[in-house]
Amino acid sequence: MGSHSKGRNNSYDYSFKILLIGDSCVGKSSLLLSFISNLVHDLSPTIGVDFKVKLLTIGGKRLKLTIWDTGQERFGTLTSSYYRGSHGIILVYDVTRRETFTNVLDIWAKEVQLYSTNHECVKILLGNKVDRDTERAVTREEGLALAQEHKWFFLECSAKTRENVQQCFKDLTLKILEVPSLLENGSAVVKRQILAQKKVDPTSSSTGGCCS
Ligand code: GDP
Repeated sequence: MGSHSKGRNNSYDYSFKILLIGDSCVGKSSLLLSFISNLVHDLSPTIGVDFKVKLLTIGGKRLKLTIWDTGQERFGTLTSSYYRGSHGIILVYDVTRRETFTNVLDIWAKEVQLYSTNHECVKILLGNKVDRDTERAVTREEGLALAQEHKWFFLECSAKTRENVQQCFKDLTLKILEVPSLLENGSAVVKRQILAQKKVDPTSSSTGGCCS
């Protein structure tokens, strides 16, 4: 098996960075926790979840998903580093609050456009809180139409009942796996090769240590 053997901490084929973005209180942290843990947990406002890692196998590939909840910390330069290198972006709105839906276009899609470095990054529009159907302010059709217009994928879900939560991350990941440019820069083998080169560099006589 050589130095790239299985059974190490990072035994995965690909590592993908996934972002959850959207207005405050649409349920981003709840979605993240719902996806990560298998417990049905009591939903209370969750603050301070930065990112979580989940290892899973989809389509025969061992994947490491690093999922960022960007909700609370949108300060200047931090913003661009959150977006940098992301492979998948989940644009979340709350189906019971119309302004969270209009902000998807007015705020969030603009940020994606501005800061996202992988231009083929896969996007999914996600309408959360469908368990509160009687309070709906955005129809399913409206969500779907917006997504189609921008070539995003679309789902509605509930972090509370967990309906479609796993599905959302699974669909997103499967779509990322279909994009060659994303696969290339998410490849663990390529990353290990780069790391291996870096380890060798300092002992070699030439340009070791200089990053410019
Ligand atoms: P964030 O600011 O986008 O991360 O939102 P939170 O995850 O903190 O959720 C905001 C509030 O909405 C909390 O009180 C959650 O309990 C609630 N919430 C989140 N998802 C759902 C859902 O699917 N259904 C219902 N009914 N409430 C939810």
